[in-house]
Amino acid sequence: MNELFITGKQILETLQKSDYEAYFVGGCVRDYQMGRPINDVDITTDALPEEVESLFENTVDVGKEHGTIIVLIDDIPFEVTTFRVESEYSDHRRPDSVSFTEELEGDLERRDFTMNAMAMDKKYQLIDPYSGMEAIQQKRISTVGPAEARFDEDALRILRAIRFKAQLGFTIDEETLTAMERHSGHLQHVAIERSITELKKTYAAKYLEEVKNLMVQTGIKKNIPFLKEVDDNKFMSTTAFSFIEEVALQVYMKESLLKYISYLKLSNREKSNIIEMVDILKDLEYDKHVKAISYKYNYDTLKNVEALVNENQFSDKLRWHDILGNAIEMKPLLPIQKTSDIDINGKELMQHFERRGGRWIKELFTILEQEILYNQLQNDKKKLLEWIDVHVEFKEGNISLTGS
Ligand code: ATP
Ligand code: MG
Repeated sequence: MNELFITGKQILETLQKSDYEAYFVGGCVRDYQMGRPINDVDITTDALPEEVESLFENTVDVGKEHGTIIVLIDDIPFEVTTFRVESEYSDHRRPDSVSFTEELEGDLERRDFTMNAMAMDKKYQLIDPYSGMEAIQQKRISTVGPAEARFDEDALRILRAIRFKAQLGFTIDEETLTAMERHSGHLQHVAIERSITELKKTYAAKYLEEVKNLMVQTGIKKNIPFLKEVDDNKFMSTTAFSFIEEVALQVYMKESLLKYISYLKLSNREKSNIIEMVDILKDLEYDKHVKAISYKYNYDTLKNVEALVNENQFSDKLRWHDILGNAIEMKPLLPIQKTSDIDINGKELMQHFERRGGRWIKELFTILEQEILYNQLQNDKKKLLEWIDVHVEFKEGNISLTGS
């Protein structure tokens, strides 16, 4: 039995001892029934958040107003949520209010797809009022209740259906698919962070290719920031292994897309990763020296781009493949990995020249970097200073290189 369920069972038992109902629910039940790996175990109960807090030693309030408390057991977080039904949605985004119900069935009814609307008790007995198991057996994705209403309540579910299809390779039911198409315009009202979470999962999934076509056909693509600016054929023709890589490929193919990246609200790290991938592709196109590519970029990013080059159509693909292979291979062997690896610092340079700091230091570092990388200058303080004495002089306060 999965460790997470064994640990999670303690939570069910503690709640039941205090006369509450408690069940495993949602994705973990689906994945358990399908024999898939379990990421996290969610629990649903009729205990109110305050009651959950009082029963466990380690809890984190992550959204008490939505009924959710995290209970930590052996440092593993479990989301414990009070049974709830959601009322009126007026802006296609989030419930106007959340009211607690004592009915497990009511809680399951508000869930998105039938396969996600199952619960399991501590003896692993399934509670499946919406035929989630049947959907799993028939490899179908189907909303709980009328699809029209369910997507109207929350358009994010459209992207979730796509994500689950990409992960599981299931077929989306006709009624569900038609409703997704009809409501795809509402995706514009969904907070981009929520959409991106689903898109990232979609891109990490096994059956991405199949759903890309569907994203175009159903009008999903044209309602997502950035993606809506991308040409449909170009969107469908790429092979990317993450959403970030997709963005990078598209920006490389059409530089004017760069300005739309900000709408995706990605982290700074993700944005610089995108820029780095685009720069590598451009350097390949402009025939930059292998060693320069090797030195300038992150090892992992080079590896990512290598995989992209292998899987996508580029006119000079074979040559790019070789350059990247060499750049990756030589990277760990380079005498320095970054400017700060140079065996001398700014202060030492200032002392050596008896000069105050200024732009010259940066310039000198660039020169030293080049000499170490390309002209076999040894990265050793003494050797560097000797080289500097022979080659570097100041003319009217500016650095210049002497001929010899
Ligand atoms: P994963 O394995 O990726 O975590 P999951 O099914 O657990 O998949 P979550 O996003 O963690 O997905 O959501 C947990 C559960 O909450 C879902 O299984 C579903 O029952 C319910 N749920 C999540 N988002 C929605 C939504 N937008 N509308 C209705 N129910 C939802
Ligand atoms: Mg989950």
